[in-house]
Amino acid sequence: KANRKFHPEDTVVDVSGRKLGGGHFCMIAGPCSVESAEQITEVAQAVKGAGACVLRGGAFKPRTSPYAFQGLGPVGLDLLRVARQKTGMPIVSEVMDREQLPHFADVDIIQVGARNMQNFTLLRAVGEMGKPVLLKRGLSSTIEEFLMSAEYVMAGGCEQVILCERGIRTFETATRNTLDLSAIPLLKRLSHLPVVVDPSHATGIPWMIEPMSRAAVAAGADGLIIEVHNAPEKALCDGAQSLRPQEFADLVEGLRPFVKLC
Ligand code: PEP
Ligand code: MN
Repeated sequence: KANRKFHPEDTVVDVSGRKLGGGHFCMIAGPCSVESAEQITEVAQAVKGAGACVLRGGAFKPRTSPYAFQGLGPVGLDLLRVARQKTGMPIVSEVMDREQLPHFADVDIIQVGARNMQNFTLLRAVGEMGKPVLLKRGLSSTIEEFLMSAEYVMAGGCEQVILCERGIRTFETATRNTLDLSAIPLLKRLSHLPVVVDPSHATGIPWMIEPMSRAAVAAGADGLIIEVHNAPEKALCDGAQSLRPQEFADLVEGLRPFVKLC
């Protein structure tokens, strides 16, 4: 179902009325985690003003340490809904487990994170929700494994899958991950699904997000997903890689001549 051979035209994902893919470039932005009503609303208004069309915010967080902030859970999703209501922006958030899926019935895009890319029962169940899915590439997954995971979501019943390159594990430790730019043209040749790039998790370094965003656009990406926080130094998760609202606005301005923002 994901194969370009049997579906030559680009898939255009309908995100609650906004188009993503097939020439419609989508800027997704927001904090790593939803932390409070003030934080998510302030960031949502800022990124909307800068040109973002979808708001991100984690409520269920897959943290390496069990003692790190795990996200606000269902409360976090409620705060995201409030930010959606105030700004009109569709929302995307990560589901970690099948049991959490009932909380996601009205979330505009359901995210499956890198750590769950091969959780096949979750992939099928997410597909059965019938909502657009943002599927992130696993930390050490090949392109073929990535596409087969998209296939699981599609076999579950949802053809609206957005592929996300977020960097892979290599021997290099200077960046958090290694952004595999070659994945963009490869995925777009092998599949008709839109490809978005996450330069925040791929690099882990704020100043590298703009050059890598430009590179992703040059390589043919259909969108970007970028972490933005109103007070990165106080963030409960991934503050060190988060852009400030003004830095995000400058990044979007630099890309405007090259993309048609949705
Ligand atoms: C995230 O988007 O906050 C996240 C946890 O990403 P990934 O699954 O790519 O690590
Ligand atoms: Mn993060």
